[in-house]
Amino acid sequence: MPSHAEEPRGGLTIVGLGPGRREYMTARALKAIAAAEYVIGNASYLEPLGPLLAGKNVIRSSMGKEVERAQQAIDLARSHAVAIVSGGDAGVYGMASIVLEVLENSGAAVDVEVIPGVTAANAAASRVGSPLSGDFAVISLSDLLTPLEVIEQRLDAVFSVGIPVVLYNPKSRGRPHNFALAVSHARKYLAASTPVAIVKNALRDGEEIIITTLGEAEKCEGTVDMHSTVIIGGSESRIWRRGENVKGIITPRGYHRKYVY
Ligand code: SAH
Repeated sequence: MPSHAEEPRGGLTIVGLGPGRREYMTARALKAIAAAEYVIGNASYLEPLGPLLAGKNVIRSSMGKEVERAQQAIDLARSHAVAIVSGGDAGVYGMASIVLEVLENSGAAVDVEVIPGVTAANAAASRVGSPLSGDFAVISLSDLLTPLEVIEQRLDAVFSVGIPVVLYNPKSRGRPHNFALAVSHARKYLAASTPVAIVKNALRDGEEIIITTLGEAEKCEGTVDMHSTVIIGGSESRIWRRGENVKGIITPRGYHRKYVY
């Protein structure tokens, strides 16, 4: 008879994988994947894990199947170690909430741990200086789960207070006009000179960075896609220069109001 300790021990980790490259995953995320018998996630998130998945049961699922994926993960986690993975942070437009909701409704006694990851806002910001140094807001332009009029109300609310705004899901084939729409909302409250960063594939292959201004942003519409995060500066954000070169965006925290440097 195998002892209890040798029996497969179930449990579920909801793992944020960070922006893409392995070195930006947390040590805890790597450990959770190493310990998992089953790894479940979108093919695009699983692929960069490469050899980390050797010998594991890998379940690739596609966009739009999140509820089924959550149910499957919970069923397996009753008797197996399961990691369900999301890009960036699983709690930011990721799988964490739906998995916890399905788990709550199922009443299953499954151990669950949410493991944080570097979200796109932080990944993108790090590539363009320090645009998010104080208060900032994050808005997704995807209207798959949130009606467009609600998104527009939120855009007005956050732009009107002059804080930097990070746009996730800024454009896709299904919603080609949402980026331009967000820029038009920003223009109601912010100067044309307000800096804007478009960061495509931050901290992974194919990275592209554009620093522009709100007045010029629409000209960059062609570059913006579903792999991009857009940072629209706030009323205090400015272009960061080194010598003649534009490097990115700084949003001062306010030290200049208290100190001389
Ligand atoms: N859970 C993810 C977000 C998923 S929503 C996170 O925390 O990062 C998908 C959107 O995230 C994309 O449309 C894009 O706007 C953004 N995104 C995710 N990874 C990115 C990356 N490496 N570079 C730029 N944007 C990224």
